[in-house]
Amino acid sequence: MSNSFLVCRSCGGNDLEVVLSLGCTPLANALLTEENLSETEETYPLEVAFCRECSLVQLTETVSPEKLFRDYLYFSSFADTVVQNAQSISKRIMEEHPLDSRSLVVEIASNDGYLLQFYNQENIPVLGIEPAQNIAKVALQRGIRTISEFFGRELAQQLRDQGTQADIIHANNVLAHVADLNGVVAGIAILLKSNGLAVIEVPYLKDLVDYVEFDTIYHEAGLLRLDSTHAHMNLGWRPRWCLRQALEHTVNWHRAWIDGQDMGNISLRQIQAYMTAGSS
Ligand SMILES: [Zn+2]
Repeated sequence: MSNSFLVCRSCGGNDLEVVLSLGCTPLANALLTEENLSETEETYPLEVAFCRECSLVQLTETVSPEKLFRDYLYFSSFADTVVQNAQSISKRIMEEHPLDSRSLVVEIASNDGYLLQFYNQENIPVLGIEPAQNIAKVALQRGIRTISEFFGRELAQQLRDQGTQADIIHANNVLAHVADLNGVVAGIAILLKSNGLAVIEVPYLKDLVDYVEFDTIYHEAGLLRLDSTHAHMNLGWRPRWCLRQALEHTVNWHRAWIDGQDMGNISLRQIQAYMTAGSS
């Protein structure tokens, strides 16, 4: 079934195919209280579509972020494995990168500070960006500097204009939760220092299929399932760059564009670097 009226959130193409429909469901993490049990519960279509142009798998319906995230019930610190993972990744970053009291670590959708607390403990300045006001309040109470806003191009530019730039930006399972995917990535490019590092975690489509993880499909996570299987199977392509290299070049390209550099030249240099990279 092809829905030609749908537009891909990433490439803007309109060749999307619905591959799974879970019917209409209420929003996850938005349980009714005893008082509103008698009211009609709002439901939204929960359909997963595949973009034939860029391979991004995404939901067809976009629910307003204000509705989804302003008052949120999910506290990351309640999940021990999430906190353990945050501790190990922050330890690794601090071992690999010389950070000190003049550095800045930013987390997009920083929740209750479950990750930034580990940098805070080492006296490395942090800034959390968390749209859920109730959760941002908890982070602030724990001493984690947090602003309660939605992250995108505009906020990143405001911060940069105020002289704020990040050495490290974390975005854990956050790209899957935003409708304006390209705006968030552009925001990362704006906010990151030229030698900074963006650490981005996204779910993997193959695992969803292999382990029948249909319960991870919900309105908050409208996308993002990155996968190169399509290109590998149909075209025999294999990546020349690992994910880290590809992201680095993408961020550098956006940064150069924002800085008004000669994009023809930059693009040619990147293509050259790509063509001469060893395939792995
Ligand atoms: Zn697409």
